[in-house]
Amino acid sequence: MAEAKRIDGKAAAARIIDIVTRETATLTTATGVVPGLAVVIVGEDPASQVYVGSKAKTAKACGFKSIKHELPAETGEAALLKRIADLNADPEVHGILVQLPLPKHIDETKVVQAIDPDKDVDGFHLINVGRLSTGASAKAFVPCTPAGSMILIREVLGDDLSGKSAVIVGRSNIVGKPMAQLLLAADATVTIAHSRTRDLASVCRGADILVAAVGRPEMLNGAYVKDGAVVIDVGINRVDAPEKGHDEDGMPKTRLVGDVNYADASEKAAAITPVPGGVGPMTIAMLMANTLRSACRAADVAPPK
Ligand code: NDP
Repeated sequence: MAEAKRIDGKAAAARIIDIVTRETATLTTATGVVPGLAVVIVGEDPASQVYVGSKAKTAKACGFKSIKHELPAETGEAALLKRIADLNADPEVHGILVQLPLPKHIDETKVVQAIDPDKDVDGFHLINVGRLSTGASAKAFVPCTPAGSMILIREVLGDDLSGKSAVIVGRSNIVGKPMAQLLLAADATVTIAHSRTRDLASVCRGADILVAAVGRPEMLNGAYVKDGAVVIDVGINRVDAPEKGHDEDGMPKTRLVGDVNYADASEKAAAITPVPGGVGPMTIAMLMANTLRSACRAADVAPPK
């Protein structure tokens, strides 16, 4: 087979951010409403700090009011819930995002369920989960990573996914399950695989669309890929890369890899997302799109398609 097409998530995300920026300017000029995104982070986990920083920066670039709430690691659950209640009540805030994971002494479910579903731009609130799974996705905020993955799938296959066979490896609430709902809503025939699935490779080889959301570096190789499949690699794994040298403490430098062995899978797939530069940038772009949608609803104007 010819080598797979590399699906450029960075370029697709840039196009979405460009549309969001233009539509934000239109909304603000017409109504005075400035989309407001509140990003709440508890503690100093370095990876979370990087994610939050890049979300806040992109929000500003889109013309949003971006409000970062940095709370110390010892913040109690009651104090965090109070902060969420304040943000729920603030008319200038259209989207609330609580960066996960939270410190162990805080009940994550309780915090996520405390967010007003109409400001839940991550799409993790049970009301939004319910809307998506009952087909009321026009009203739902759809979780950003699966929503972005769907756009990449459609870039390759077009809008009609009817009858395609889709296999999703991973059944988490934030990626695997909502991904399955979106593909099901698009009339694909969906299989969700997980750690108890028997003969995973043969299940995966049945897929026209293979989505990997496992969290295991380069686990899926060419033996898991059907000839001509579209492969979406959601995984983000940091692995040692001694070939890049060592830092001042003598530790090997690192690099990011996905859940799919790109080089091997590329020999079978028709199209595949790289890591980095595939699904990752789409996640932030969809967060911006969700926040703009929320602001449009608040201003009672139609959101952009
Ligand atoms: P979770 O750890 O919540 O879920 C992993 C899933 O993979 C589970 O359902 C688990 O099965 C399944 N699994 C684990 N090992 C195997 C195996 N050997 N065979 C088959 N299935 C297996 O992870 P997330 O869904 O949160 O994230 C998945 C990946 O996506 C991670 O690398 C994460 O970093 C990345 N990610 C990337 C994002 C982005 O913006 N691109 C956003 C969010 C996540 P079981 O349920 O049986 O335990």
